[in-house]
Amino acid sequence: MKPRRPALPGPPRAIADELLRWYAAKRRDLPWRGATDPYVIWVSEIMLQQTQAAVVGPYFARFLARFPNVASLAQAPLTDVLGAWAGLGYYARARSMHRAAQGLAARGFPRTLDALLELPGFGPYTAAAVGSIAFGLREPAIDGNAVRVYARLSGLSAPRAKAEPLLRALARPLVELRSPGEVNQAIMDLGQRVCTVHNPRCAACPWQSRCVARAEGTIAAIPLKTKAKPRRRLRVRAAVARRGAALLFARRHERGLFGGLWELPSAEVASAPRLAAALAAELGVACRVGRELASVERVLTHRALTLTAHAVELAGPPRLGAHAAGQYQELRWMRAGDLGALGLSRATRQLLEALDVRWLC
Ligand code: SF4
Repeated sequence: MKPRRPALPGPPRAIADELLRWYAAKRRDLPWRGATDPYVIWVSEIMLQQTQAAVVGPYFARFLARFPNVASLAQAPLTDVLGAWAGLGYYARARSMHRAAQGLAARGFPRTLDALLELPGFGPYTAAAVGSIAFGLREPAIDGNAVRVYARLSGLSAPRAKAEPLLRALARPLVELRSPGEVNQAIMDLGQRVCTVHNPRCAACPWQSRCVARAEGTIAAIPLKTKAKPRRRLRVRAAVARRGAALLFARRHERGLFGGLWELPSAEVASAPRLAAALAAELGVACRVGRELASVERVLTHRALTLTAHAVELAGPPRLGAHAAGQYQELRWMRAGDLGALGLSRATRQLLEALDVRWLC
């Protein structure tokens, strides 16, 4: 059934002013607040996807110290960018930024929504957030937080996919009447600090007397939840191949899961003998796969990963290229001290921790 078109519960000007008065008094003091450089705003917005502001703070400072502008990001090898991202997870964000920087370094930031949407990694939310804060584009930035706030304010009960375009239209008068960057940032703060998923603090909300969900007692049911798809199980076995104090690491091709990241050479296989066959094809050398050393579990966006490490002996020096469909672009023997600046997936870090604390990086 098509959800009804939601309406603002009052005059848009009054609603926008209540929000901005609250924001002026309660806004969070975050390192990227007040920035006018689109590059800085972009870095913060990408880091804040899937990651809380408190976690982002130190990464944001380190990333900007290392890549202070678009040109420095564009010129850096991808592996350095992934290394600076290490620990934040969702590395596709860093890969997209690096790709987008190549074009931005030559042409500068575009100032229209359509052109921003053409950039790698820019969806409707990121384009609206960067465009409104950096260039004053009058576009509502609608992410999960904004959906929750606007849906409760208007009493819209619909799954997110259906709610999003309706709420974008609902919020449009607010960004047309007042500073769009301020309105969008105020909604981000309100969603994170007041209109939270559980137990929203309605007494502290600037819209407490207007909110339809509050008046109707439907807050907990908005936004409507959709059943999550079950995650696919992913069983990966990894090789711990030693040469003195070093372990063999491999860097994946750029595309796909963990693209561009370093890891212990691995394969999605059900058993140790199959790992031996997969490694022999990938590394061009016969392997003997020994006992299981450690195993970790990790929940990814669409998959539940079990990563198991085996002791592996190689019959000779490994080399890439023997396998046309190989998943790696580079091999390297590395000691614990070499790993700090490398882009390693969280699953790999977790596995190294489980193997031996000296491999912590
Ligand atoms: Fe959210 Fe409560 Fe404010 Fe309504 S009154 S928008 S439910 S915090």
